[in-house]
Amino acid sequence: MTNKKIAVIGAGVMGQGVSYQFAKYGFDVMLIDTDETILNNASKEIKKIYRIDSMISSNPVVNNTHNIQYSTNLAEIGNSYFIIENITENIELKKKLYLEMSLLITADTYIAVNTSCVSIELISSLMPYPEKILGIHFMNPVHLKNTVEVIKGKNSSDSTMESAMNLLKMVNIAGIIVNDSPGFVSNRILMLTINEAILTLQEGVATVENIDNIHKKCFGHKMGPLETADLIGLDTILNSLVVLKELRHDQKYTPASLLVEKVNQNKLGRKTEEGFYKY
Ligand code: NAD
Repeated sequence: MTNKKIAVIGAGVMGQGVSYQFAKYGFDVMLIDTDETILNNASKEIKKIYRIDSMISSNPVVNNTHNIQYSTNLAEIGNSYFIIENITENIELKKKLYLEMSLLITADTYIAVNTSCVSIELISSLMPYPEKILGIHFMNPVHLKNTVEVIKGKNSSDSTMESAMNLLKMVNIAGIIVNDSPGFVSNRILMLTINEAILTLQEGVATVENIDNIHKKCFGHKMGPLETADLIGLDTILNSLVVLKELRHDQKYTPASLLVEKVNQNKLGRKTEEGFYKY
């Protein structure tokens, strides 16, 4: 593999983590978002990830953050080996972006859709080389999670799947392959759990801490569902439930009103320093 250019689209929580991980392992990253302020903030956050990574890592970590370039120009995806798309979890926004990308893309580039719930088939139906598209559902925080969910779309070719698994190996991440279905395995289950935890809170069954402690102390989970929601971002949870409800045609994904209220108050979790907890 000679082309080491990775284009990362979307410079939010996931785009920052993905960019850091690929830069760390020697790739040349082009990080793209719609606005300079977002990119400046992403650059600061990525430096923060490096500092945390070097503090907690048992081996010295080289600062490769200079391997990341920033741009608001989508045409910069040109000549990439892989594009990793991490924009807001919203079907209309994703569709619009892919239609723009369909005019820029060549047959040499693979596309990994990093989405919580949107089906890969829906995305690849908009694109000229659907066999080159698959899903990689990275976990958050990317540099601490060494296994991800890899989604084989109806049209993803075997060589695309193999290239993606090899690419992940190069950045010290293993993949578990699943078939395409909205929410895949992880979020089809997790989003319902989180929503149900929020309903439990909203109905006054228990406090935030006790809902999480039931999972941590009784079940032995590392984190409770409300802490997990704050880590993911409450806007992303809400968007994911909306996507699941629409694509799975199932009322059980109706978002809890407390979740909608928190998002309207811009209490989005760790990224805004307040969600179910304060940070
Ligand atoms: P986020 O809201 O933190 O960031 C999304 C970014 O996309 C924003 O900076 C926004 O400006 C940018 N964006 C929107 N439209 C764009 C466009 N047309 N071109 C370029 N940039 C654009 O969201 P996130 O948490 O980083 O999630 C991104 C994707 O990854 C979503 O699909 C989400 O479901 C998925 N995901 C999230 C997590 C998580 O824990 N947060 C985990 C795995 C996957």
